[in-house]
Amino acid sequence: MDAAAVALPSATSLPAPISSDLTDALLEAAVDSIIVINSRGMIEAFNRSATRMFGYGTHEVLGRNISMLMGAGDASQHDDHLARHQTTGRCSIIGIGREVSGLRRDGSLFPMHLSVGEFRSEGRLLYVGICRDISERKRSEMHMRHLATHDTLTGCANRALFNERLRDTLERTGGNAEPQAAVLFVDLDRFKSVNDDFGHQMGDRVLATASRRMQACLETGDLLARVGGDEFAIVMHPASDERIDTVAACLIEALAAPIEAGVRMARIGASIGISRSPADGRDAAQLLKLADIAMYHAKSEGRGRFTFFTPAMHERMRQDALLASQLRASLDCGRFELHYQLQFRLDTLAVCGLEALIRWRDASGQLVAPDKFLPLAAEQGLMPRIGSWVLERACRDNRLLIERGLLDVPVAVNIGPYEFENADFVREVTQVLADCGLPGRNLELEMTEHAAVTDMPGVRQAMHALKALGVTLSLDDFGTGFSSLSYLKRFPFDRLKIDRSFISALPDSQDDAALTGAILKIADSLGMSVIAEGVETTAQRDFLVRNGCKLGQGYWFARPMPLPDIIARLSASSNQAPA
Ligand code: C2E
Ligand code: CA
Ligand code: CA
Repeated sequence: MDAAAVALPSATSLPAPISSDLTDALLEAAVDSIIVINSRGMIEAFNRSATRMFGYGTHEVLGRNISMLMGAGDASQHDDHLARHQTTGRCSIIGIGREVSGLRRDGSLFPMHLSVGEFRSEGRLLYVGICRDISERKRSEMHMRHLATHDTLTGCANRALFNERLRDTLERTGGNAEPQAAVLFVDLDRFKSVNDDFGHQMGDRVLATASRRMQACLETGDLLARVGGDEFAIVMHPASDERIDTVAACLIEALAAPIEAGVRMARIGASIGISRSPADGRDAAQLLKLADIAMYHAKSEGRGRFTFFTPAMHERMRQDALLASQLRASLDCGRFELHYQLQFRLDTLAVCGLEALIRWRDASGQLVAPDKFLPLAAEQGLMPRIGSWVLERACRDNRLLIERGLLDVPVAVNIGPYEFENADFVREVTQVLADCGLPGRNLELEMTEHAAVTDMPGVRQAMHALKALGVTLSLDDFGTGFSSLSYLKRFPFDRLKIDRSFISALPDSQDDAALTGAILKIADSLGMSVIAEGVETTAQRDFLVRNGCKLGQGYWFARPMPLPDIIARLSASSNQAPA
């Protein structure tokens, strides 16, 4: 036993010798283990608690060296410590108490707190050690430490531990001889909709599965942390570019595979941004920020990919931030406009509908096309407000056309995934139709597969409710996604819009001609109508007519134009005498 002192008074100042009966009673009653050894380390007293703690009977230990009760590390130093105390009076732990490892009879080790005092009895130097088993306390301390540094849901490290590890790693990469370190910022692509459609409990399970899959791509030295709701970050060190590529590709693939969520499968996918040290800097917070910027890039390049940070990304971020703030301001001061593109019957060239297409007038007065600002608006969470504005504006404009007796057809409004994420969408449509005095049959909603493809029960329900209002439902950009025939049957679409990419090569491209013909036949057999998008030439129109397509839209008929131009054109044609 190491020489140390409890707060016992030294032997010389003891007021009077204590009776041995009292000593025995104290020893036996004590909850802690009490062991007395002599100056050579031999055990002279071993109380009942000690027998329980170490598993030895008193007779088995008396006269034996105390080191038999210690873990190897402490045991090997014990004799030296004892000798030093006796020759120099110096001692490393007297009066402090300390944690040592105890060794039980069955060979198991346990942490114990030990305090030691010295005293003299009949002229002999003795030491008394009081030992307490602190396994339980250590376990709860470890548990507390784990709680403080880990995410309870996924068991991954939390942001605090991530920062600590990254800082430690970067300190070690100080010298250039050190291998490179990397930060991977992983953002799940469609987690929000999983949470909304499957419920939070399923969302939690999906997150836990996702993190297990990520962990499987990593090596023991890497640290995976959950740093936000659906954001994870990884510290890799060492991290050669080759290994970063391998790990990032593994993560993308692991997260692209569907994840079981109850009886259904959730598809999430991930985008990853990567920064490296020392190339991109040596500051932990900065590296995480740069990896985040690179991730943002990966997402805007079409998700499901990984991207290394480059300085040019900074500039692009700055521009996007500027554009985003301008877009936000535009919502309040009416800088969005709708243009309308008329749709026609291919045989009679009668107008059968019109599609509302949004435009944005930027600060310089230029009209900006939707492809240039809608993705950013979606990212910034502006789409619900923009979508509501489009729906209402289009309905009001269509009402005006009907009132003026110019046209009585459905106005087609494009809707995105955010509409179905809004549980109140059906109510909103009902309300807008009522407010504008527009019958449901005068509204058509166009959605791409992405809006409806996530197999959420709410989507089909909402679609049926919309149909019950008389609204027409069209599947936009048909043929560009992954539409399967079963998908067409599962969702109650009234109409398919054949994507412009098929029409543009008609009639020369045999493949596109065959595909267009096939789409027309399928739609016919499913009882859906078909409209061809992007009809630009007479030859295209003739081909479509020959193949039984009845409706078309495109520059050949009319370009998108503002409402006054639509009114002028319709007024002109209604004033013409019928042929
Ligand atoms: P989309 O729904 O497929 O709309 C058709 C696009 O093709 C329009 O582009 C239209 O101007 C263009 N187009 C029509 N005929 C022809 C043609 O003959 N040749 C060629 N080359 N192009 C033609 P636009 O207006 O730039 O809209 C692009 C996309 O932006 C739309 O594709 C739609 O997905 C989205 N979008 C437009 N307005 C809205 C809106 O109010 N809400 C939402 N969520 N999306 C919108
Ligand atoms: Ca459309
Ligand atoms: Ca389209």
